[in-house]
Amino acid sequence: MNQVYENSREFAQKMDQQDPLKNYRNEFHIPVINGKQVIYYTGNSLGLQPKRTRSFIEKELKDWELFGVEGHFNPKKDNIWYHFHTYSKKSLSAIMGAKPEEVVSMNNLTVNLHLLMVSFYRPTAKKYKIIVEAGAFPSDQYVFESQLNWHAYHGGNKLFDPKEALVEIAPRKGERNLRTEDIIETIQKHSGELALVLIGGVQYYTGQFFNLKAITEAAHKAGAYAGFDLAHAAGNINLKLHDWDVDFATWCTYKYLNSGPGNVSGIYVHERFGNNPEIPRFAGWWGHSEQERFKMKKGFIPMEGADGWQLSNVNIIGGAAHIASLEIFAEAGMEALRKKSVLLTGYLEYLIKEVNKEEKIFELITPENPEERGCQLSLLTLKYGKALFDELMNRGILGDWREPDVIRLAPVPLYNTFEEQYQFSKILKESLEALKQK
Ligand SMILES: *Cc1c(COP(=O)(O)O)cnc(C)c1O
Repeated sequence: MNQVYENSREFAQKMDQQDPLKNYRNEFHIPVINGKQVIYYTGNSLGLQPKRTRSFIEKELKDWELFGVEGHFNPKKDNIWYHFHTYSKKSLSAIMGAKPEEVVSMNNLTVNLHLLMVSFYRPTAKKYKIIVEAGAFPSDQYVFESQLNWHAYHGGNKLFDPKEALVEIAPRKGERNLRTEDIIETIQKHSGELALVLIGGVQYYTGQFFNLKAITEAAHKAGAYAGFDLAHAAGNINLKLHDWDVDFATWCTYKYLNSGPGNVSGIYVHERFGNNPEIPRFAGWWGHSEQERFKMKKGFIPMEGADGWQLSNVNIIGGAAHIASLEIFAEAGMEALRKKSVLLTGYLEYLIKEVNKEEKIFELITPENPEERGCQLSLLTLKYGKALFDELMNRGILGDWREPDVIRLAPVPLYNTFEEQYQFSKILKESLEALKQK
C-alpha cells in the first residue's frame, strides 16, 4: 500500500472523518489525568474499559442476587451460567480465525501455557527440544524452564539435558528482528531432536509479527508441534489459526481484547486434537462430557474440541466483561480493525520519522513492513532515554518504558485517532525542546 501521509493537523482530522470505525472511540472510557484525556498507547498492556462492560457485569450481579445457585440453570435467565463458556465462542473464533469448537476461554495465560504443554510437549530421550524466540516474555521463560526441569528429571532418571533442550533463536548480529528463513533453518537443523516450536505470535518487546503459517509448516515437516503465545496478537492481527494449521495457541484478553485487568485467557486447539479423546491432558469436571458431568461418576470423558481442556467452572463476573468486549469486536470486525490499524500505526511511524529527520532521536526496532507487525511501535531511544519518556508522560502520553532504552507505543484502532498521532508528534517536539533547556 502506498499511503501518502501529511504532517498536519488538517490531514489527521481528515483521516479521522473518513475513518469508518471512528465512532468506536465513544464506546470506551478514556483515562483523564490533570483534567485532560491522555493519549493512551498502552492497549498492548491493558486495553481500555468498554462503557458497556459495566452493564454486562451488573446483569450477572443482578441474576446472582435474584436466583442464587439457580442462576446456573434457571431457564428464565436468557444466559444460564451452565453454558457460559459457549457464549464467547462465535466472536472469539472469528477473531482467532478458528472454528467455534476450536476455541474456549478459561484460566489465565501462563496457566494455559502449562496445560497445553502437558498435551503438546511429550519429550522422549530422542525428541525433546523446544525452539523459542530469544528474549521471550519472562513468564513464558519460567514456563519453559520449569517444564524442561520437570520432564528431564521425571521419575528420578535423567531423560535429557534441560540445558540443551531449549533452543533460542536470536536476530543476526546487527539486526533487531528474526528472519523467517533463519527460524525455518533452525527448525530444520534440530529436526532430529525437535519436539515443539513455541514462540510469541507478536514479540512483546520488538512488536515483530512472525510468519505463523511458514513456522507451523516447517515444524510439522520436522515432526514437531507448533504452538504460539498470542498475548500480543489476539485482537491486534487478523489471525487465521485454523487455515495456517497451527496446532495450539493461547492468549490473554486484557491486552488488545479489552476484557479487564487479569481477566480470563483463551485457548485454541486444532480440531484434529480436539476430536481425539486420546490426547493426554490434565482433566477437570468442566472438560468432562456435559451429559455425564453431574452423574459424578469415575472415568474422565473429554468434551469435544477445545472445551475438553477446561478444568473449572466459569468465572461469570469476569466472563461477562469478556463477552461485553468481544461483542464490540464482532461489530467492528477484525478485517476493518486491521485495515485501520495499518494506516494508524503507519501514520505514527511517518510522524516519528519526520521528527527524526531534524535530529535522530529514535531507532525503530519494529519491522517497517506492516505485514510483519501489529499496532505497536518499539522505539529505541538514542538520546535522553528515560528522561524523554518522563517528559512525554508529564504531557499526557501514556506509553510504556522497557529497560534499558525502549519506548513502546501502541495506537489501537478501536479507540485511538489519527489526530492523537499528530498531537503526539507535537508533544514529542515540545519534550525535546524542554530537555535541551535543561
Ligand atoms: C502479557 C503476557 C503474559 C502474561 O501472563 P499472565 O499469565 O496473563 O499473567 C505472558 N506471556 C506473554 C507473551 C505476554 O505478553
